[in-house]
Amino acid sequence: MQPDTVTVIAGRPAHEPGAPLNAPITLASSFHAGGAFEYGRHANPAYESFESVVGELEGGRALAFASGIATAAATLGLLEPGAVVVLPRHGYNGTTSLVQSGPYEVRLIDPSDTAGSIDAFTGADLVWLESPTNPAMEVGDLPALVAAAKEAGALVAVDNTFRTPLRDRPLSYGADIVTHSASKLLGGHSDLVLGVLATGDDTLYERLHDHRSLHGAIPGALECFLAVRGVRTLAVRLDRAEASAAVLADRLKAHPAVAEVRYPGFGSMVCFVVDDADHAQRATESSRVITHATSLGGVESTWERRRRFPAEPETIPAGLIRLSVGIEAVEDLWADIEAALG
Ligand SMILES: *Cc1c(COP(=O)(O)O)cnc(C)c1O
Repeated sequence: MQPDTVTVIAGRPAHEPGAPLNAPITLASSFHAGGAFEYGRHANPAYESFESVVGELEGGRALAFASGIATAAATLGLLEPGAVVVLPRHGYNGTTSLVQSGPYEVRLIDPSDTAGSIDAFTGADLVWLESPTNPAMEVGDLPALVAAAKEAGALVAVDNTFRTPLRDRPLSYGADIVTHSASKLLGGHSDLVLGVLATGDDTLYERLHDHRSLHGAIPGALECFLAVRGVRTLAVRLDRAEASAAVLADRLKAHPAVAEVRYPGFGSMVCFVVDDADHAQRATESSRVITHATSLGGVESTWERRRRFPAEPETIPAGLIRLSVGIEAVEDLWADIEAALG
C-alpha cells in the first residue's frame, strides 16, 4: 500500500455493519475491569487509533505523548546519568535546552558535515538527529549518519517533524526511534499540541511505554482524534505546500532584499536571510496573508524572525526569517512577501 493510502485508511474501526468510520473520542479515565483497557494513563482507544496510523506510516509501533518535547524526554529517559548525547548544533532549540538541562555530556554537531559528525559518535550513548535542522536548514546524509552511529554502538533517534513519514522513514534504514511534534505537519491545523514516536524494537517500545505511564506525559483523547483527522489530508497538504515552497524559494533567490535562501529542495519550510534584523522584523510584522507567529506545518502560512527568541543560537543570522508555507494560493503568498519585504 502506498503511504498516501495508509494516511487515509489506517487506524479505523473494523469494517462491520453499524460500526463508525472513525475511532470515537473516548472520554473515560477508567474502563470496566478485565478487558484490554484499564486506566487512561496507560491507554485509550483514541490514542491507539492515532498510534496505529503513525506506526503503519513509520514502519514500527508508535506511542503518542502530550507534546513533541515529551517524546525527547522519554527518549532521554532511556539513558543513565553521565551519558554522552550527540545532537545538532542548530536543531530545535527546545530539544537542545532539554538535553543541556540534564545530567549528560553533550556534543553538538553539524549534520551536513558527515565526517565531522561521525567523529563525534565515538563513545556516544545517544545520537539525536534532525534534518533539515530547525531553523538552519542543514541537511544531513541520514542513512550514512544512522549507520555510523549504530556502528559506534549508540542508540539513534531521528526527529522526523520536518519531513514526515511521507518523505522519509528513518526506521527503514536502521534508526531505533523516530519522533514527531504532531503539533506541526501531522496535525496540520495549528489547533493542538501533541507528540508521537515510533520504534521497531519491542523492548524499547515497552520501556518507552513504561516511561509514559510513570511520568504521565499522556496525550488527550481529543488531540489524538484531531491529529488523526489531520493526517487524513497530510499527503495533499504536503504536496501543495511543497510545490508552493519551491516556487517561493526560487523567487526569493532573485529578490534584491534577500541575501541567502535556505531551501533543501523538498518540504514546506523555507528559511531566508534579509540584510538586517530590523528589516526582517518589520517584514514579518507587516504581512497580511502570512500570519506572524511561531510554529509551523499548518494549513496557514506563518513566518517569524527566529532570533527574536533569546534561546536561538547567535550563529543563526539575526535577519533569518523562517517561513512555513501553507496551502493558500501561491500567487497570494508571493504578493504578500513582496509587499512585506518592500
Ligand atoms: C516544535 C518542534 C518540536 C517540539 O514539539 P512540541 O509539540 O512543540 O513539544 C520538536 N522538534 C521539532 C523539529 C519541532 O519543530
